[in-house]
Amino acid sequence: MTITNQYLTHNRPYTKRSRTDAIAMHWVANPGTSAAANRNYFQNTSTEVSANYIIGLVGEVICCIPDNEVSWCTNQANGYTVSIECCHPDWTGRFNDATYKSMVELIASLCKKYGLHPLKGGVIRHFDVTGKNCPKWFVPKSKGGSDTEDTQHWHKFLADVAAQMGQGTAATKPSGSAATTKLRYDWKQGQRVQLYKEKTQLFANESATTPAGYLPKGTYYIYDGKCCRNGRYRVTTKAEYCGKMPAGKYVTGYVSVDNFREV
Ligand SMILES: [Zn+2]
Repeated sequence: MTITNQYLTHNRPYTKRSRTDAIAMHWVANPGTSAAANRNYFQNTSTEVSANYIIGLVGEVICCIPDNEVSWCTNQANGYTVSIECCHPDWTGRFNDATYKSMVELIASLCKKYGLHPLKGGVIRHFDVTGKNCPKWFVPKSKGGSDTEDTQHWHKFLADVAAQMGQGTAATKPSGSAATTKLRYDWKQGQRVQLYKEKTQLFANESATTPAGYLPKGTYYIYDGKCCRNGRYRVTTKAEYCGKMPAGKYVTGYVSVDNFREV
């Protein structure tokens, strides 16, 4: 990832932020346009709009406003966020591989710089601030976006950023296994998985930070195939429990995908 500094002289308040609580993600909502084209739009428009970074369709990154300064992108959150605009090929808002790769790398490096954790609120969507359909690929369909109802695109992105930082669950690799084991986020209901660690952290819900207990090594089953927040899946001990209601009675708990091995 190469970052080119092409600082704006217009739509730039030249205000240093006193705090940085999150990185805010956006889509440009203008399919097929480049990072340079969007940067030039900010420089020339009479609308008060700008961003700290724009990531283009070939993975190019333009810094429009230094990341310690305020940009006009995320409404009431401008004073405490670094804003990132991302280009996309079409109206689905899906990011291509080159853009996505730079997104993961840039956000991971900014999280490190500002001491933010992507899985603990350190990376947010414009949608989280105002409810706007932005970035569309990370907003659920019921809100006008292109993500699943449980926002699998968004959670995968956050997990990928965490993994890139070496903080994510992907950083923990089992002894003796290949370092290249790729995390999967496409587990299906009823699928058998092996928990390979002697003790696997078990969470009571998708966002708890302290484990409710530990599961012993062994074979478990994916309860419903929904990838929850923080890359967690609900697991259960018997195949016939999968999908069975009430969930509270049949789910053993939430486990992060980095603990799974295929059986
Ligand atoms: Zn936005």
